[in-house]
Amino acid sequence: MPQPALSRRSLLQTGAAVAVGTAVAGTLPAAPAAAARTDIGVSAYAFPLTAVTLLAGPFQANAGRTQSYLNFIDADRLLHTFRLNYGLSSSATACGGWESPTTELRGHSTGHVLTALAQAYANTGQAAFKTKGDYLVAQLAICQNRASTAGYNTGYLSAYPESFIDRVEARQQVWAPYYTLHKIMAGLLDMHLLAGNAQALDVLTRMAAWVKFRNDRLSQTQRQNMLDTEFGGMNEVLTNLYQLTENPDHLTTARYFDHAEIFDPLAANTDALNNYHANTQIPKILGAIREYHATGTTRYRDIAVNFWDIVVNRHSYAIGGNSNGEYFKAPNRIASELSDSTCECCNTYNMLKLTRQLFFTNPSRLDYLDYYERALWNHLIGAQNPSSSHGFHCYYVPLRAGGTKTYSNDYSNFTCCHGTGMETHTKLVDSIYFHNGDILYVNLFAASRLVWPGRGITVQQDTTFPESSTSRLTVTGSGAIDLRIRIPGWATGAEVRLNGTVQSGVTSGSFARINRTWASGDVVEISLPMALTREATPDNSTVQAVKHGPIVLAGAYGSTNLSALPTLNPATITPTSTPMQYTATASTGTVTLLPFYKMHGQRYTVYWTVTGAPPAPFVAHYRFDETAGTSAADATGNGKTGTLTGGAGWTSGRTGNAVNLNGTSAHVSLPAGLLAGATAFTVATWVRRTAATAWARVFDFGTGTGAYLFLTPQSSAGTIRFAITSGGAGSEQQINGPAAIPVNTWTHVAVTQTGNTGVLYVNGVEVARNTAMTTRPSALGSTTNNWVGRSQYSGDPYLTGAVDGFRVYARALSAAEIADLNSTGL
Ligand SMILES: [Zn+2]
Repeated sequence: MPQPALSRRSLLQTGAAVAVGTAVAGTLPAAPAAAARTDIGVSAYAFPLTAVTLLAGPFQANAGRTQSYLNFIDADRLLHTFRLNYGLSSSATACGGWESPTTELRGHSTGHVLTALAQAYANTGQAAFKTKGDYLVAQLAICQNRASTAGYNTGYLSAYPESFIDRVEARQQVWAPYYTLHKIMAGLLDMHLLAGNAQALDVLTRMAAWVKFRNDRLSQTQRQNMLDTEFGGMNEVLTNLYQLTENPDHLTTARYFDHAEIFDPLAANTDALNNYHANTQIPKILGAIREYHATGTTRYRDIAVNFWDIVVNRHSYAIGGNSNGEYFKAPNRIASELSDSTCECCNTYNMLKLTRQLFFTNPSRLDYLDYYERALWNHLIGAQNPSSSHGFHCYYVPLRAGGTKTYSNDYSNFTCCHGTGMETHTKLVDSIYFHNGDILYVNLFAASRLVWPGRGITVQQDTTFPESSTSRLTVTGSGAIDLRIRIPGWATGAEVRLNGTVQSGVTSGSFARINRTWASGDVVEISLPMALTREATPDNSTVQAVKHGPIVLAGAYGSTNLSALPTLNPATITPTSTPMQYTATASTGTVTLLPFYKMHGQRYTVYWTVTGAPPAPFVAHYRFDETAGTSAADATGNGKTGTLTGGAGWTSGRTGNAVNLNGTSAHVSLPAGLLAGATAFTVATWVRRTAATAWARVFDFGTGTGAYLFLTPQSSAGTIRFAITSGGAGSEQQINGPAAIPVNTWTHVAVTQTGNTGVLYVNGVEVARNTAMTTRPSALGSTTNNWVGRSQYSGDPYLTGAVDGFRVYARALSAAEIADLNSTGL
């Protein structure tokens, strides 16, 4: 949340005396209203917060601290500036920080508190949360009813005067008035939906009518200009209100907040985010996906899908956060953007909201949930101070070497991230399980109990994840459940047992599925081995973070500040007897590595300089320099040994030896699941074909003709083609080059994909690209027919020729890296 450039002092005068009176509508308890309109394009659904209970564990501990703060916080102090703004007396002590009576953002925290109280009430059933929320709503209604008396337009509700809106419309300096109004509107909607407060909907509806009144008067150009000032998720909350009420006015008003300057490049899948304030943009995209769900207009969906892919793949740090100094930077700048002001917590709060909406839209994208897990654990769970009984929260999470976390407090901070922190830690149950009909998704591993509404089925999850790599589900009740357990992309060698029997079809990066009629006492045991890995930054492959499974580890430096990244010797990383704790030797001496989410009260480093390491993740590398036998060694050390099959042999290569393919049945078979779960990839190799046959394969990774990715040197169109599909030939997404690759000549070919962009290279030079390649290897599951020189289609010819230096990466190599592979001949 950037503070305004100009002094905040110029703006505070509230109009003074006003008349009194006005009746207030009594608060009538009401059952939570169901949405009048069904969401379009959704095929997975959240359970209500009432259905899932946290059991002892880190989530429950975090939730408890925030609940304690919500019980503690004085509603009248939050109402102080609202009352003054409407000429009402208030004897409460003014809040400080961003809620001080002179801060232009005042009132935003009341919105966050309303949402947090509603969520805490829905999740725990404790009446005190609803009582405090109901009181806040009733008092806000009193203020709103005095709008005309206070000189404001009907329906206006805020802790600052309506002249702030005049200023944003006139493009004069003001902080972010619609941002604050969005928080209040979202809080009212949550009090209605989650706590059954009818008055909250009434107050919200009046606010929405006021927003429409203010914006109807403006030209489209004026409205678009106004959107340059941060406005939170106005389009989101108004769309949600439209879905609830069916009143088309709310959708019309929501669309006034569609910011063309941001939406247009995203609709074209262009990354134009550099130098934009990050958390100003993310809520706009939350609005876009909800506008898709409300209207079915696929452009809104594409904007959201493209934005997520761009931000997660090109702008996110190892902990799942984004932004430096609150701004997006040029794509893939990570190592070069480490500071004390990285990773504003609000950004990740909003990215997680977006992530679950996108999963609802496309439940085949398991990578959405992998990101959810990564960002929740490594960023937000660890952003709350466990030493504070009130759950004080970080604003930024510093990622410079020697950084340390700092936290909010009871009454003199009230930053945006203090606000979204209250929301995060009162809804930790909201994405552990999803459903659709009989389908039950188990997304997150957290001690919890699901009571499936209306089905008489309880699923209890017992786990100490991530300290332990196992989780146990126990079913009570009976009925059909199509159980789908997320096997994360990081989990290699995962195992699922049903009542002790090992289940087949368990591969990382896909859902393990058990579709059956369940009975009380059925037990599912999930084992997710956590490997120690390193994640390189895209802009400097020697700058890496260390991870244990999904958990980012950080070096603990006590009170010692650091002026540069320490150099880590990866061979020295040694586990201790404490789960997820390691020691290692670095340039600073012996250092302890702890889970970053547990790193509090001391300085740390998340990133290290790691010299001599290969660019991770380097999946497999076949030099094909063997001279005998049928094994092709994997030079990465990952053990992905290939097997020469059908008469394949050895011959002289581009460098050293190569594998020789006879065009009749010879091929190389690579291990299953080579790119399972990968959302980005590179396959690069040398090939020398000796027959100009169409449809032979350089490589073809797939599971039959339904799901595959392949590269042919010559399609029936006569040119090199890459294709990927998860739905058979009719759904292929292709990159077609300008010509076939030559015969009897060693040629370097490479394909990369990151986000929706696939690039085809020949001899180190890009020859074609496709920027709408939305199918990723992760959509293909764990492919079993991973072949060099052979097609999934039995009618296609085998490759005649030789292949050398075959490389597979689970990331997109840069053009420079591809050029290097070509020039070095390796
Ligand atoms: Zn924030």
